[in-house]
Amino acid sequence: MSPKRKTALITGITGQDGAYLSRLLLDHDHNVVGLVARRSHDNLARLRALGIAERITLVAGDVTDAASCSAVVAEVRPDCVYNLAAQSFVKASFDQPLATFETNAKGTLNMLEAVRRHAPKARFYQASTSELFGLEGDKEKQTLRETSPFHPRSPYGIAKLAAHWSVINYREAYGMHASCGILFNHESPLRGDEFVTQKIARGVADIVLGETDHITLGNLNVARDWGHAEDFVRAMVMMLEQDEPDDYVIATGEAHELLEFVEIAFQTVGITNWENYIRRDERFMRPADVPYLRGDPTKAKRKLGWGPQYSFGELVRSMVMYHLPPGAVMQTREEVRYGQAI
Ligand code: NAP
Repeated sequence: MSPKRKTALITGITGQDGAYLSRLLLDHDHNVVGLVARRSHDNLARLRALGIAERITLVAGDVTDAASCSAVVAEVRPDCVYNLAAQSFVKASFDQPLATFETNAKGTLNMLEAVRRHAPKARFYQASTSELFGLEGDKEKQTLRETSPFHPRSPYGIAKLAAHWSVINYREAYGMHASCGILFNHESPLRGDEFVTQKIARGVADIVLGETDHITLGNLNVARDWGHAEDFVRAMVMMLEQDEPDDYVIATGEAHELLEFVEIAFQTVGITNWENYIRRDERFMRPADVPYLRGDPTKAKRKLGWGPQYSFGELVRSMVMYHLPPGAVMQTREEVRYGQAI
């Protein structure tokens, strides 16, 4: 007899990670339920792009609304909860610090409290972030691990730090199986349009298609440890499969400047004089930036057996090729593979 199917509740299911995570959990034979905030626009595009929208149960709720979190958890009685809902764009958090705090910090507490009261045995995953480390990463270009100090540099990072410690507190105070994944930047063809990597990928494709003749960017010298979202959601599931809850850095261990992302994106379509297509604008700089972030995934490798499968080049190429119709540029076999990877 097959064991009872597990039910996963995902907040932030309509986002990049929510979509890939849903597909992975469906592949693992889970019932997938998504808490979805009401919006005036259609927010199911990513679930449709992966062809899974029909296989998911959507329930109305908002993580800033404690009553709806409680009602959803009481109704669904999940075996595992992935708390991905967030105002996730760092730059916007400077413009909307309070709204960011409401969603990212208070929203996490609302979900923790709902789980504690209505599904205390459920395993809980929290979407923590490398932005917790902030300025710390720039000191002697060190690799950041679970024991590195935190020094967030944005309202986003500060709200996520409050959420991170809330999760640890619920684990210690109530014995909840609650884990934080301290994820470094991860991208994909489904990345939000406001993020610089997607702006570059889409911009390069638009240049090839004759829709524009330039991309406007800010600081090209920031360095990040960029991975692929498909690899990173695998780590989330592995964390909740562990007997004991714990916190893990999830990263590739490599840092690349944004400049390298730009170069590979243009190389993908055969453009070498890429400088001619870039315009610079100070408005894209942040009030307080994080110059360098590189993570050390040793613990995740050792304890979870996790490692990334996509290289940096494959990630960049997959994002550019996604926006181009077949035959728009000469494709190598590898580019075809990753261009169709979603
Ligand atoms: P994303 O694409 O921006 O998705 C955010 C999700 O949160 C969306 O589904 C959004 O719904 C939902 N949401 C926002 N406010 C909500 C509210 N009040 N109630 C319910 N849902 C709400 O983000 P992502 O890239 O998938 O990232 C997933 C999580 O990982 C986020 O918490 C992010 O901060 C964190 N993280 C991401 C990265 C990264 O590089 N991607 C790195 C570290 C940590 P709508 O679609 O309706 O707006």
